[in-house]
Amino acid sequence: MKEAVIVVDMLEEFVNGRLGNERTRSILPALRRFLASARQAGKPVVYVGDAHLPSDPEMAIWGPHAMKGSPQAETVEELQPQPEDYVLEKRTYSAFYETGLDLLLRSLGVDTVVITGLHTNICDRHTAADAFARGYRIVVPEDCVNAFTEEEHRSGLEYLKAIYGARITTSDELAQEWAQVTSHAST
Ligand code: ZN
Repeated sequence: MKEAVIVVDMLEEFVNGRLGNERTRSILPALRRFLASARQAGKPVVYVGDAHLPSDPEMAIWGPHAMKGSPQAETVEELQPQPEDYVLEKRTYSAFYETGLDLLLRSLGVDTVVITGLHTNICDRHTAADAFARGYRIVVPEDCVNAFTEEEHRSGLEYLKAIYGARITTSDELAQEWAQVTSHAST
């Protein structure tokens, strides 16, 4: 099994901006620690965030948000990509839709995506749908995703589990598993 960690929409807009709230800020410490563990274990980390154009379909639903080139489309300071990470832009909910993510993951030999970021029931869900359709296994550390409300977060997780067979776990559990494999490999 080769995993990659996908970081969805951890942008200024959704954390500190008009569409941000305490719930989205609450996952920052766990996600920051988790990304460090992933890098240490040699797992690719791929950021995929909104970079919208004014003509994008989502404008009708959410209004202008995370517009390409604007400060609101920047990854939050706490989670800045490192030199070995990958950074892709998206223009709709799914991290796979016309972003080159599938080609990147296949080039890296990835067969399992660990989905983190925002929001459990929107972009994480659409990303999971496209991952499922392309044959990837899906893992979701529940403390590294969130939604606008607790109900949306919980029902979002249930949906990922029921419809895409996602393994719902925690960032600590995954980090521990990876640390064990890494230490076995080096002995
Ligand atoms: Zn958007």
